[in-house]
Amino acid sequence: MTGRVLVLGGTGEARRLATALVADGVDVLSSLAGRVADPLLPPGEVRIGGFGGAAGLAAWLRAHPVDAVVDATHPFATAMTASAAAAADVTGVPLLRLQRPGWSAQPGDDWRWVDSPEEAAEAVRGFGCVFLTTGRQGLAAFAGLTAHCLVRAVDPPEPPLPARTSVVLRRGPFGVDEELALLREHAVEVVVTKDSGGSMTEAKLAAARTLGLPVVLVRRPPLPPGLPTVATVDEALTWLRGQPG
Ligand code: NAP
Repeated sequence: MTGRVLVLGGTGEARRLATALVADGVDVLSSLAGRVADPLLPPGEVRIGGFGGAAGLAAWLRAHPVDAVVDATHPFATAMTASAAAAADVTGVPLLRLQRPGWSAQPGDDWRWVDSPEEAAEAVRGFGCVFLTTGRQGLAAFAGLTAHCLVRAVDPPEPPLPARTSVVLRRGPFGVDEELALLREHAVEVVVTKDSGGSMTEAKLAAARTLGLPVVLVRRPPLPPGLPTVATVDEALTWLRGQPG
C-alpha cells in the first residue's frame, strides 16, 4: 500500500475510502470544499477549502508531497476533477478517479435526459409542481419557472430561486416511503435530478416510478481524457495497493 494518500472528497465513497485506508494504517488526508456548513467528516486527517485551481493544487502537492491522489469528488464536481487531472499531469503524482456508476432506467420509468440544468428547466415548463433535487448550486437555472417548485437541499438555498419555492432541508439517505410521502404531500408532477448515481438518493426514482411521474435527468459531464477511473472503493484500494509508496 502506498504511503500518504490525498482523497478529494465530499461523497460517501470518499468517506468509505478514507475509513478503509485508516483501518489499513495508511496515512490519509481527506480534502473537502467547505460548501456544506456541517459536513460529515471522514476518519483521519481532514483539510477544508479550495486549493486555488490547478496551479494552486500543483503548488500544494509540491509543498505537501503525497504518493497518490484519489479524486472521489461528486460526478458533477467538474472543476475539481479538471484541476486534479491538470495538477497530476504537471507534478507526476499518480491520480485515480473514483466515480460511482450512473443510474439506469427500469421498466416503467419515464426518464427524459438533458445536458444541463438550463435544458432541465426547459423540459419542465408546463408542469404544475416540480421537485428540484439538483442541490443548492445550479438552482439559478430554474429561477424563471412559474410552477410551484419543491427544492430539497442540505443547506438553505440562496437566490435567485423560482418565485413559488418551498424548501425542504434534509440530508440523505432517503427511503422510498419517505419519498412517496413527500411527492404525494406536495402533489409533485415531475422530478428533476442530476445523474448522481449511488443508493443514497435513488429512492426518489423508485417513488417516481411507483407514481408514474416523469423524471428529468441531467447527464454527467465527461471525464478528462485518459484519467484512470474505477467505480468502487474496493477497486480504488486495489489500485492504491499497486502504487509504489
Ligand atoms: P466543483 O465545482 O468541481 O468545485 C469548485 C471548486 O471548489 C473547485 O475548483 C475547488 O476550488 C473547490 N473544491 C471542490 N471540491 C473540493 C475538495 N474535495 N477539496 C478542496 N476543494 C474542493 O465542485 P462542486 O460541484 O462545487 O462540489 C463541491 C464539493 O461538494 C465537492 O467536494 C463535491 O464532491 C461535493 N458534492 C458536490 C455535489 C454536486 O452536485 N456538484 C453533490 C454532492 C457533493 P479550487 O479551485 O480553489 O481548488
